[in-house]
Amino acid sequence: MIEPGVEELLRGAGLRITGPRVAVLSVIRQHPHIDVGTIVDLVRERAGAVSTQAVYDVLKVLVAADLARRIDLPNSPARYEAQAGDEHQHVVCRTCGRISDVGGPQPAVRLEPSQDHGFAIDGVEVTYWGRCPQCQAASAPAG
Ligand SMILES: [Zn+2]
Ligand SMILES: [Zn+2]
Repeated sequence: MIEPGVEELLRGAGLRITGPRVAVLSVIRQHPHIDVGTIVDLVRERAGAVSTQAVYDVLKVLVAADLARRIDLPNSPARYEAQAGDEHQHVVCRTCGRISDVGGPQPAVRLEPSQDHGFAIDGVEVTYWGRCPQCQAASAPAG
């Protein structure tokens, strides 16, 4: 299967193709779980002078169009990845902040109607926390 190009994705979502949109979407597709500061740096390398605000605006548009997914973790700047449509979960290293993808949808996580406080639930996010192999090795006792 040939992956659709960034411009096709934008067009498919009914979005006008602009330099910053192409650059931002390309960057997040190549660098999953990237923070906004790094996105801005990489977008400027590709598309020249683009303001931080413009990058935020593009990210908002891409998330609204379901082309990007925003990942909010406590004590961490917002991160973005291309929407994979698989509802995968994340495992996060408490020490270095490294993020990896795990699994797909988690049908086991469901609220009983008696537990939903009357909310119309439309999503669930599960984040696994721990320490990555490098951080475990770094703190292992010597010898
Ligand atoms: Zn780590
Ligand atoms: Zn991910």
